[in-house]
Amino acid sequence: MHVVGTAGHVDHGKSTLVEALTGIDPDRLKEEKDREMTIDLGFAWLKPGDGYDEIGIIDVPGHRDFIENMLAGVGGIDLALIVIAADEGVMPQTKEHLAILDLLEIQSGIIVVTKVDLIDDPDWLELVTLEVFEALQSTALADAPVFQVSAINGQGIDELRRALIAQLNELPPRYDEGRPRLPIDRVFSLPGFGSIVTGTLVGGNLEVGEAVEIQPAGNRGRIRGLQTHQTKLQEARPGSRVAVNISGLSTDELRRGDVLAQPGSIRSTVLCDVRYRHLPDVRLPLQHNEEVKFFVGAAEVIARVRILGEKQIQAGEQGWLQLALRESVALSRGDRFILRRPSPSETLGGGQIIDPHPGRKHRRFRPEIVNRLESLAHGSPHDLIFDLLKQSEPILVTQLLETGDMDLDIAENAWQQLTTDGIALAISGYALSKTGWENLLTKLLALLSQYHANNPLRLGMHREEMRSRLRIPNALFGALVDQGELQGNLDEITTILKLPEHSISFTPAQQQTIDDLVTLFNRSGINSPSVKDVKVILGPEVYAALLDLEQIVQINEEVVYQATDYTDFVSNIEEFLREHGRANAGQIRDLLGTSRKYAIAILEYLDDEGITRREGDFRLLEE
Ligand code: GDP
Repeated sequence: MHVVGTAGHVDHGKSTLVEALTGIDPDRLKEEKDREMTIDLGFAWLKPGDGYDEIGIIDVPGHRDFIENMLAGVGGIDLALIVIAADEGVMPQTKEHLAILDLLEIQSGIIVVTKVDLIDDPDWLELVTLEVFEALQSTALADAPVFQVSAINGQGIDELRRALIAQLNELPPRYDEGRPRLPIDRVFSLPGFGSIVTGTLVGGNLEVGEAVEIQPAGNRGRIRGLQTHQTKLQEARPGSRVAVNISGLSTDELRRGDVLAQPGSIRSTVLCDVRYRHLPDVRLPLQHNEEVKFFVGAAEVIARVRILGEKQIQAGEQGWLQLALRESVALSRGDRFILRRPSPSETLGGGQIIDPHPGRKHRRFRPEIVNRLESLAHGSPHDLIFDLLKQSEPILVTQLLETGDMDLDIAENAWQQLTTDGIALAISGYALSKTGWENLLTKLLALLSQYHANNPLRLGMHREEMRSRLRIPNALFGALVDQGELQGNLDEITTILKLPEHSISFTPAQQQTIDDLVTLFNRSGINSPSVKDVKVILGPEVYAALLDLEQIVQINEEVVYQATDYTDFVSNIEEFLREHGRANAGQIRDLLGTSRKYAIAILEYLDDEGITRREGDFRLLEE
């Protein structure tokens, strides 16, 4: 399936030519709208047979805005039929349309000089043809063939139709990226059907029954029926004019300019980075901060221009822009767009979307920003995925590949290549650049080093605190700590992270209080001084240090032991339980030679530690 668009000055005979070529009057079809699910309102088609693809023709009705129609398909049209009336020759709109075709990079075209039945003078015809060649010079259509026809007496029409079919047949099929997008150019409803939208399908297939999402609103529905050229379809292919009957969405939820796509496959944006070309015959240069009309797909929105690399863009020159859109629009990398001045209305130029989601406003005159856009514009999938990765790492590999705005297979291949080259890594399902991963570890070690400097009496930082400072997911954090340990740059003691070279060192005065405490502990044994008293003796910092160093064990709010005593108590209890099978609190109290308060505190702590288990009044060893 191919799509042809007509172009040319009003009243030059476009609609009449389409009818002569196809037998279908696009205007007549409009009236059929109410009678049946006629999907091709304003559109005609050719079914050449003999194995040739069907051809959809988008005509530009006299008073409709040409640009809206020209762009009504993100990928534009396959071929332009440029219609010039022999009696009038090249007119202002002819020139404007040619400029737009050039901006949209429509590579294939046919020039039709029509109404030749009105001309008797062969010299005049020759003159008009020369004028046409001149207008085409330096555009992508400079080599387009020229046909002289009359839609009224049929002269040259058969030859033109054959040439059109042959020329389209030479074109490569539309690229199927596996990402169908339908920029909606019309919305209506019909009794018994419900909501119907039409557009030129690009990027991939649509199938009856599948779920769809409408961007930018994000509403979801299901495809109830598909039609092209008044024929029902099970599946629509890219490059065709399609009408989609959607269930689950009312016409209030659908607008011209919206994009229908598979759920989650495209995102909308209010900011985009673009490559722009200012038309050669525009009077004024494009100014920074200028307000313009931005046309993309079937959408039209007011945008403010930020010129990134230059002061202004002169006629015929190119540059990098960031466009701030007044309303959200669904965009894809590579989409073509046009800018117009709102009043007096004038086409200024156009180009291609390079980054549909730049994320933030760029500063002007920054070489690194322009360089990045240059590489994105020329970039391979490999470069694009890597660029996305650097902007958003760490990111789930699956998410990275989906945001790549490209076919999943291509994205996956590019990702494989990046990991094989060793410049990217997949860790616990997350994608990271090699340098990003190394930087994370460097950051962790720097944070630890700073922590040690600020807290010389702490053994190190708790895992959870470190994880929340690095703001990375759990799985990734675990892998990072393992990596640090493996390299010998990091120690993990229970849940504390420390640098290997760090140890707690006490001042002589602090050491003295510790020694005093040890004497006190030795003297009191099981009936140890309270947590409160020990903290008073040591001071809170030294107390915390001894906990980190596991020289003391705090059993509960009140009870603390020196670690050697605690270990003794535990082995006594374990031995007793092994011998007797079980013990109640009274027996343990007697075993340890203490009061009930201490015995119960120890047992509850052992329960929590999973060393003992409580059954009624008794404790047993946890197997
Ligand atoms: P459009 O605005 O470009 O679509 O132009 P139309 O197809 O509506 O044609 C404009 C006028 O030109 C109509 O009155 C047509 O009948 C007339 N016309 C179109 N093609 C021819 C032709 O080949 N010969 C003559 N004599 N008149 C034509």
